[in-house]
Amino acid sequence: MKVIDLRSDTITMPTEEMRQAMYKAEVGDDVYVEDPTINLLEEKSAAMLGKEAALFTVSGTMSNLIAVLAHTRPGDEIILGNEAHMLVAEVGGASALGGVIMRNIPNEIDGRLELSLVEQTIREENIHYPRTTLLCIENTQNRCGGTVLTAEYTVAVADLAHRHGLMVHLDGARIFNAAVALGVPAKRLVEPVDSVSFCLSKGLSAPVGSLLCGSGRFINSARKWRKMLGGGMRQAGVIAAAGIVAIEKMVDRLAEDHANAKMLAIGLSQIPGIVIYPDRIQTNIVLFEPPTGVTPQEFSMRMETSQILAKPYGGRRIRAVLNRMVSGEDIKETLERVGQIVRESA
Ligand SMILES: *Cc1c(COP(=O)(O)O)cnc(C)c1O
Repeated sequence: MKVIDLRSDTITMPTEEMRQAMYKAEVGDDVYVEDPTINLLEEKSAAMLGKEAALFTVSGTMSNLIAVLAHTRPGDEIILGNEAHMLVAEVGGASALGGVIMRNIPNEIDGRLELSLVEQTIREENIHYPRTTLLCIENTQNRCGGTVLTAEYTVAVADLAHRHGLMVHLDGARIFNAAVALGVPAKRLVEPVDSVSFCLSKGLSAPVGSLLCGSGRFINSARKWRKMLGGGMRQAGVIAAAGIVAIEKMVDRLAEDHANAKMLAIGLSQIPGIVIYPDRIQTNIVLFEPPTGVTPQEFSMRMETSQILAKPYGGRRIRAVLNRMVSGEDIKETLERVGQIVRESA
């Protein structure tokens, strides 16, 4: 039986074109800013997102951490959603290494942070209080099921933060999924924020890396923080080369993953007992609940026995992430096998 891996879009393998580009990449010492391939990837990324400059980092986690380090001081408070990847899934790095308090407010079901709640959470000046200096938002919002933040919302929340003197960082690990889903250029979605990170190694299928983008001054500071964290690499143009292919060739095809996600969601909704709201599926992430009486852990294990990999995702949820390695045929196969599991569990 074929293994269908829906655990994450991080499982995507580099394309043949990426491997060719990696093989041929011109390289240099990037700590001296002398790797032409990395410099090109950084220039292209900054241009695509409408920012002055960009920095190639090892991972989304490192980009987000560097953003916190560059925007804040130890003892500051930052505001983010209770479902934020930076809060839930980055090992507490912002607090452990950045010394900041992570103050969280509930994400709305569609991934937004309610404006009035953000405003109430920003601290005024008081001798007893830490300074609130940074707001972090996430687009697409992973744990809310890959939901998108619109350009209009991003302007509104960033304006609010800026009025109160906060900087705004956008965790845009999947910003191109949001851009494709909304049919707008990614630069429009990040225009109001001070910094944005995005991942090359998820749906875009590159093997390694993330970009942090912002003003020239911010990126100079970020470059120094990256060095401190041990993220200054040398002839890393061999991996950046795949990143260039990723941003130039792999963005438009994300629409296929979104279509497959919809197909999977609609199919799952037709299996009696499975709880899912296909209308809420906006990009490549599908959250669903198994029939009552079976725990998500059990259900995920039964799926694994049928060679379908998808992980429990908090509460009763299971997460399936569509990606380039999963075809329309695989979705049909998935639905058949899941239908079988449900019939056998009844
Ligand atoms: C994957 C992810 C990250 C972190 O990226 P890594 O490269 O895995 O460190 C950050 N934010 C979100 C929303 C993600 O999905």
